[in-house]
Amino acid sequence: MTELTSLTIAEAREKLTSKDIQAVELTQAYLDAISAANEALNAYITVTPEKAIEMAKASDQRLAAGKGGALEGIPLGIKDLFATRDVHTQACSHILDGFEPKYESTVTQNLWDDGAVMLGKLNMDEFAMGSSNESSHYGPVINPWRAEGSNQQLVPGGSSGGSAAAVAAHLCAGATATDTGGSIRQPAAFTGTVGIKPTYGRCSRWGTVAFASSLDQAGPIARDVRDAAIMLKSMASVDAKDTTSVDLAVPDYEASLGQSVKGMKIGIPEEYRVDGMPEEIEKLWAQGIAFLKDAGAEIVDITLPHTKYALPAYYIVAPAEASSNLARYDGVRYGLRVDGKDIIDMYEKTRAAGFGKEVKRRIMIGTYVLSAGYYDAYYLQAQKVRTLIKRDFEHVFDAGVDAILTPATPSSAFGVADENLAADPVAMYLNDIFTVTVNMAGLPGIAVPAGLDKKGLPLGLQLIGKPFEEETLFKAAYVIEQAAGRFTPARWW
Ligand code: GLN
Repeated sequence: MTELTSLTIAEAREKLTSKDIQAVELTQAYLDAISAANEALNAYITVTPEKAIEMAKASDQRLAAGKGGALEGIPLGIKDLFATRDVHTQACSHILDGFEPKYESTVTQNLWDDGAVMLGKLNMDEFAMGSSNESSHYGPVINPWRAEGSNQQLVPGGSSGGSAAAVAAHLCAGATATDTGGSIRQPAAFTGTVGIKPTYGRCSRWGTVAFASSLDQAGPIARDVRDAAIMLKSMASVDAKDTTSVDLAVPDYEASLGQSVKGMKIGIPEEYRVDGMPEEIEKLWAQGIAFLKDAGAEIVDITLPHTKYALPAYYIVAPAEASSNLARYDGVRYGLRVDGKDIIDMYEKTRAAGFGKEVKRRIMIGTYVLSAGYYDAYYLQAQKVRTLIKRDFEHVFDAGVDAILTPATPSSAFGVADENLAADPVAMYLNDIFTVTVNMAGLPGIAVPAGLDKKGLPLGLQLIGKPFEEETLFKAAYVIEQAAGRFTPARWW
């Protein structure tokens, strides 16, 4: 018999409804897999076995009664950025030490309402700032993938590194993640998994620890396109508690899988052919183009002229919003407190001890670009650039393009504690060169694995769509997945 943890969400759903398997045994299989792997991979920072079994028992009862929601009995991992009632929620920061919220995020509540089972909280970069999961207070996550013939530890990408690693290593059936500049799509690409950042406003941000509020969006990381479609359907909702939630019915994303892409116009932006891009990424991109063309799509060259300003503008807008959002961590209301001689001293000591290096860097950049005298030169200018980037996409879509195909990342997974990256934060920021434009414009973007590089490591392609046309992305990504196949790491842990 196949291992229970190797079932996709769609496969498990079928076996659960036909009563071939029970939610409790599926959940136990995942809990056992986590126990066996977590020391090596560090994907989970908290496991909630009692809660998981209790939820699975309730699922089995509903399934036995022929009821059951869309995710009934499906065990999921939750990124530590989502508030989960009475369970560790720290955005993997020391400053939120001991924080267990008394409320549930809308996204996780939606999943539980559909019958999903919570396995625990997943590791991530502190406050979702990073591209390698190395800024976590709980230490780095190790990518389940290794280069052929090598034992070198690789990063799973970030900031949703725990989510991506857990999905790739079969330590959950699927995971929640968030994406402010690429944190769903880059780790998905580094681990051979599928990740979609939906349109801004599609998933409620209520109860998700804020990094940069105008960019943050939740989405799933899953083993394949179908599972991502199933999860997004449950995660997305219209929510009065988030004023940026958009009042549009959530479609049945799964229904778009297998639909023809004949006549679909796919744009190939010349600006994404960046200097120094490895030849393998070029080849992968050409391969993706061929897959879509063979399926009947029309390929057109397009231009997105303001692309080169996206990354610098992002690193003004995101830190600016972060500096404001993170002002609330002051040692008074929740989390860590380091006593001082007076209240100002207490604030300073708490923040100095509670935030890691990368978070402090962002707060300083953000405070600087918002300060009097610099606001116009930096923040206002970055907002104007943002408008231009958005307009670039609008022009292309107005001209009839349905979706845009690009590489997801400029490289495959790199080593843990890479010396060049540790010494140069800007080199790390370059990881998001293909993904940040999408957040700046508020568009949906999906990363889908499309092949392996020479070292045997997964590489992903990205599809970018029109606002609220996630269905187009699922349809086209499914074509790529059908042609490229799926990728699972060999187990060494
Ligand atoms: N890597 C980017 C950053 O560090 C994006 C992070 C994210 O999407 N949360 O800001």
